Amino acid sequence: MNQDSLKNLQIGMAEVSRFLLPFFIFWLLGAIGLGWLVNSLLILFGLLLIAPVLAFIGFRWWLKRNLVQAECPVCSFEFISLNKTEFRCPSCSEPLKAENGRFNRIAPLGTIDVSAVEISPRQIEES
Ligand SMILES: [Zn+2]
Repeated sequence: MNQDSLKNLQIGMAEVSRFLLPFFIFWLLGAIGLGWLVNSLLILFGLLLIAPVLAFIGFRWWLKRNLVQAECPVCSFEFISLNKTEFRCPSCSEPLKAENGRFNRIAPLGTIDVSAVEISPRQIEES
């Protein structure tokens, strides 16, 4: 065996041991009565796996609480938006804000919002 192949063998061994090291540590910890440490590490690992799932469920729960489905007050187009956010109606692009489960128009500051009242022809004749 010449010098080069011995060196290659050593490098190969180093890579194999690096790959096997975590298993070896687990086995060693279990062997010297630190099984609880292995278990807690496994639990920690499990929690790391579960955390994204919990985050996803939490996010869905949050969405359910914060989503508002209502009609646009201008064009009566029904759609879904996040509560307490400002957005534009996808149908008539009116600036709206979701509040208390319904959509309100965002009137520019200083604008007096006047709601149209239907007046029957008879009322006009009387006045
Ligand atoms: Zn609209």
